[in-house]
Amino acid sequence: MAESLSQDEVLEAVARHIGRPGQGPRLRRTGADITRLPMLDLRVVRSVETRTTRAETRPGRYDISGLPTFEGKLRDHPVEPPRNPARSGRLELVLSGSARTVDCGCDEGRQPCARCRARGTLDCDIGPSCPVCKGVEPCTWCDGTGERRKDRATSGPAGEKGPSGRTTCLKCRRARTACPQCRGRGTEQCRRCEDTGFRVCPVCAGERSTKHAPCDGTGLITRWTAGSVGHAPERSTTRLPDPAPPLRVRQQAGRTGAWQRATLTRAGEPLPDALDPAHVKAVASALESRPGEVARQVDIGWLPLVSVAMTDDPDHVFYVFPGSGGLEVLPVWSRRRSLRAAAVVAAVVVLLLLVAALV
Ligand SMILES: [Zn+2]
Ligand SMILES: [Zn+2]
Ligand SMILES: [Zn+2]
Ligand SMILES: [Zn+2]
Ligand SMILES: [Zn+2]
Repeated sequence: MAESLSQDEVLEAVARHIGRPGQGPRLRRTGADITRLPMLDLRVVRSVETRTTRAETRPGRYDISGLPTFEGKLRDHPVEPPRNPARSGRLELVLSGSARTVDCGCDEGRQPCARCRARGTLDCDIGPSCPVCKGVEPCTWCDGTGERRKDRATSGPAGEKGPSGRTTCLKCRRARTACPQCRGRGTEQCRRCEDTGFRVCPVCAGERSTKHAPCDGTGLITRWTAGSVGHAPERSTTRLPDPAPPLRVRQQAGRTGAWQRATLTRAGEPLPDALDPAHVKAVASALESRPGEVARQVDIGWLPLVSVAMTDDPDHVFYVFPGSGGLEVLPVWSRRRSLRAAAVVAAVVVLLLLVAALV
């Protein structure tokens, strides 16, 4: 396909398209304005590398013998860039000789229990009020204290007939004085501590200490200097001309245009000779090397495209580009025609509104 389209070729293609084959030269005489709008579709994927070192620790004796190592400065360590720059990847390394397993500094893998402050037990409440006596008058003689209440107004219960169903008090041991449910305690027995007031710590199960998490209970820690080399794809796209031709033209040219293509894989690689001179500057600037770039894949596509405006036919602009079977011509409404169509639509809307108002 022709590198760039000659005026005669273009005008003859337009003449054929409007049913006047052979009249290309005549179109030129009556006035045809040809604008070159060469198209460019440039896609770049760069693999950008980052290198970081950090201190690493693992509990216990941690085996890192399987990891690759680097010597000295990580930035001097050779790492193969990814074959496919679109792929992300990460390589984990160990600074040679940096790994050592050391004492954790805890008490042989244990640490004092934080929940119970190493006591093994937690304080516990006694049970809730007795549902029968509500804690009021659990025992008519001692009131749950085990001793005779001084402010008691009633006379001694021994001779008196106590409330029905009273039983022997656990506190004062008198018969028929206590609430049958709580037997003088005034409360239900606490299910968690059986009213002892303390219970076994649920965290350490009474052991007073727990496993030290940083060393996983081993009392040992493995430390080393880790190096990490990451590769991440960075994409960019450049499309010309700018402003872009109408959508219909771009779609048609994308489908049937005879695009020329080239692929570059190295920074500084010479641009293809056949590239349209109008694209060289944009391509060169898009392909400049970026910091951290270690690999690239560049796909360049370009297609000659011209627009033809004719004094004979002010309603159309003809777009011409090479297709698989010769030059393709795609007529598109000119700006003038589009504005007129919009004005017609607006007028119709106004008319409809008027009609609607009258009805
Ligand atoms: Zn009592
Ligand atoms: Zn009771
Ligand atoms: Zn309790
Ligand atoms: Zn505990
Ligand atoms: Zn530890």
